[in-house]
Formats: sequence, C-alpha cells, structure tokens
Amino acid sequence: MLNIKLDYELLNLETADPFGISYGTSSETKNVLVKLTYDDYHGLGEVAPVSYHGEDYYTALATLEHFKSINVLGDNPFAIVKIMEKMDSVISGHNSVKAGIEMALHDICGKILNKPLRTVLNLTDRPCPITDFTIGLDTLDTIERKTHAAVKAGYKILKIKQGTSYDKEIIKRVRSVTKDLPLRVDANGGWTVKEAINMAHFLSEHNVQFIEQPLPKYASVQDFSLVRQHSPLPIFADESICRADDVVRLGQALDGVVVKLAKTGGILEALKVIHTACAFNLKIMIGCMIESSIGVTAASQLASLVDYLDLDGALLLACDPYNGVEFINSQPSYKNLPGLGVLKKI
Ligand SMILES: [Mg+2]
Repeated sequence: MLNIKLDYELLNLETADPFGISYGTSSETKNVLVKLTYDDYHGLGEVAPVSYHGEDYYTALATLEHFKSINVLGDNPFAIVKIMEKMDSVISGHNSVKAGIEMALHDICGKILNKPLRTVLNLTDRPCPITDFTIGLDTLDTIERKTHAAVKAGYKILKIKQGTSYDKEIIKRVRSVTKDLPLRVDANGGWTVKEAINMAHFLSEHNVQFIEQPLPKYASVQDFSLVRQHSPLPIFADESICRADDVVRLGQALDGVVVKLAKTGGILEALKVIHTACAFNLKIMIGCMIESSIGVTAASQLASLVDYLDLDGALLLACDPYNGVEFINSQPSYKNLPGLGVLKKI
C-alpha cells in the first residue's frame, strides 16, 4: 500500500500594512505550507499558528515532525476522521497544525474524486454571506486613512479592532468616513466586564452589528452572561471557542461564535462547532487568521452554512502567493476546480 507523504516548509506572509490587535502589532507572519502526496495526487494545506493558544512557527514544525516520524497519515487519504482521532490521541491542542494537515487531505480527496470540495461536502446549494474587512489598531490618523481606503475599495462591512485606551475615539474617526456602513467590533479580549458593558452602550449608538470577544479568552460563563445581559448588542466569542465542547460550555452566555479552522483543527470539527452552535440558537461567523488563499479557501468551503464571514486574511497581505476563492463585491466566488481549488501564483 502507498503511504501518504507529508512535507512542509515556511510560508512567510507580509501584510500590506502593519496589523495591530490588542495583543500586539506585526507586519510579518510565519505560517507553514503543508504538502501531501499520495500516488500522483498533491494536496495543499496551511498552518496558521494561534499565538493565544501557545502556538508559533516552531511548535508547528515540531508537531509536524512528530506526526511525520510516527507516520500518522497512514495509507488512506479518505480516512480523515480516523487520522484526526489519531492526531488528537497523540497530542492535544496544536489545532492549527491538525487543520493544515486536514485541509490538505480534503484537497487530495477532492482531486481523486475530480470534484470541488464544496461539491463533495454537499454545500453548494445555499447563498453565502459577504465578507467584512478588518481595520487593525493604529494611530487615529492611520485608522482614518485605512478606513477611507477600505470604503473606496468597496468593502461593504468593516470590522474594527478595539481593546485600547482610545476605543471610542477610534469609532468616532471610523464613523467620520464610513457614514452608515455596518461595523463589527472585535476587542480581542481587551475589556473588563464593566468596560465591555460601557462600550456596548456606546457602540450601539454607532450602528455596530455585534461585539466579538469583549472579555479575555478564559473569562467565565458568568462574566459573559453579565455582559450579555447588560449589552444592547449581541456578544460573540472567538478566542474562547475552539471546539464543539467550548460551545456547550459557553453557549448559554453568548449570541454568537466565531469559527476558525486554526482553532477547530479542521473542517470536520468546524462542522461540529457549527451544528452545536445551531443547537444553542447562536449566530455563526467564519473567520481566519492572517493566512494565504490556501487557508482562507479551505475556511470558505463552509460559507453557505453560516450567517457572517470574516475571511479577509489574504486580502490584508502585501502579496498572496496563492490563487483560490476570490471576493467579488465581497461575495465569495469559487473556482470550479477539484479539491480546494488553490493554485500557486506564477
Ligand atoms: Mg476575533
């Protein structure tokens, strides 16, 4: 029997502008390109390490090396559930690595079946929401300039990063150039309960749709409940939600969740998160990290199942090395190619 061969290499990504969130600012992201080979088929995946879960480029390499040394992939690319269970039994966490491997397995399976992954997953018959575009933390003048550029570029919804000492000023500056454009706000865990409630009232007067991760990652269900009870705006969790278990733990205290493959460990667990969130009557947004069109295209496969998209990871790059899903008037547009449908740019 043929074994699935696992290779990987650095995928260095630069953002067009320094990208700031409440944890810090950077212009460069070290992701990992996963390349699987099975017979004559090649599958691509992307590892976007999640720093707030203790991952980085080096932990990703070490985890991939370990998976390779124990031949975790075996000889059947369609045995994705079994492979994911095996990886989970070998090491917990490191979900971005598992996601990178899993998307490459889906890519290979789609190519063997000669069908786009969305067709294989039976997810082509519903419309997809449009994506937002994120304005990171910066000086007020730069935020105003970036907002102006985003409006001019035709983005229809903006996501504004928060979690600073000047959050209200940021919103006022953004509003000075966006008029009635819908906004979403992401505090990346930067507020206390009191600050979150205060900001929620302020933001509700500025046509904000919802607030993402007002409280730190390990905030209790009681604290999320308190904010939600006193907030005129819906409260979503991102960093606090990785897998379906987290939705069960926190779902009663939320209005919505943000699903990212780098947190779930791949498409199959993302489907579980989505179904669990539906059971809790929660709204669902699919997001991404700073990643190329490989990771964004993999996440976009699930777009027709959710309420909101935040898939601007590749749109923020200075140079995206891959072609994949495109956003035409912010709407996902898929290539009719087998598997993920991502190709390296020449
Ligand atoms: Mg977020």
